[in-house]
Amino acid sequence: MKPRVLVVQTGGTLAMGAHGATLSLSAGPRDLLSLVPQLAEIADLEVQPLFNLDSGDLQPAHWLAIARAVHAALGRDDLAGVVVTHGTDTMAYSASALAFLLGPLPKPVIFTGAQRPLADVRTDARSNLVDATLGATLAVPEVAIAFGSQILRGCRTMKADAWALDAFASPACRPLVELGIDVSVAPHVRRSGALRPLDERIEPRVLAVRVFPGLDPRIVIGALRTGEGVRGLVLEAYGTGNLPNAAGSSLIPALEEAAARAVPVVVVSQCPRGHVELARYEGGAAAARAGAIDGGDMTVEAALAKLMIGLGRFDRRADLRAFLCADVAGERTALAAVTG
Ligand code: ASP
Repeated sequence: MKPRVLVVQTGGTLAMGAHGATLSLSAGPRDLLSLVPQLAEIADLEVQPLFNLDSGDLQPAHWLAIARAVHAALGRDDLAGVVVTHGTDTMAYSASALAFLLGPLPKPVIFTGAQRPLADVRTDARSNLVDATLGATLAVPEVAIAFGSQILRGCRTMKADAWALDAFASPACRPLVELGIDVSVAPHVRRSGALRPLDERIEPRVLAVRVFPGLDPRIVIGALRTGEGVRGLVLEAYGTGNLPNAAGSSLIPALEEAAARAVPVVVVSQCPRGHVELARYEGGAAAARAGAIDGGDMTVEAALAKLMIGLGRFDRRADLRAFLCADVAGERTALAAVTG
């Protein structure tokens, strides 16, 4: 008997068609799966259209809607796994958010999409859908992204190429599955775990700030003081977590302002490879003294999603810090493994 896979549809280029020079969802095909009949050879498919949006329009409320649909599916005994079709622009954010929202997984949850519409002759959507559907039948109980003949850990990925067909990179984590002539599942795939009740608490009022020469710390302080209220900050620092510390341009007063307002600050690196080690330079060390949290080798996408979900779940700052520093879904290498 063939395994059964649920395909949750959310939109993206895969479902688009050309409207003059602009790709649009309204011009896309209505029934995606009829364009790839080969999928039926891999699995019995059940399709759930959830919404039909450019992923640039997705918000945390949409993450929750996807998480609800996926969570319900994961509780079903008749399903081997779930595929989520999704635009590429924010797929790494959604996949990261789902990894944290869902926790341990009994089955695979495989996001996929395409750089060119499924209706195009020269499309990557067909092979990505085939790989994602196959991935959903394998022993890969993770939230992952199937793209460019690889299945990558979702909370480690970033959209790294705007135009190439292998659009996603996972610089700090090797692929979970390589789909070449053979299909090989890597040994570092996480173990399956029992599904937990879905915890929907999330605090979206976070901000990411990229550190750059010329960044006026008063702008960051101003953001922290606005009426809307920033509840958490991700700082994209230089290299190993370094940031400006000289009089006039130092970001430390901004971090002290954040600490005074109980706003957690997670420091990640602008470098796609390598990890933060705040003590390495004086700027980072001063940030740590001001309460900044070492983001290790988390991607910005993972750090933002984790911060939103952590802020929603934990009132005590110590609990939030412990959550942010822990490896929850394979999103960060344990510190001892990095430094030791
Ligand atoms: N703008 C599209 C989206 O993210 C891009 C894509 O799917 O490749 O929905």
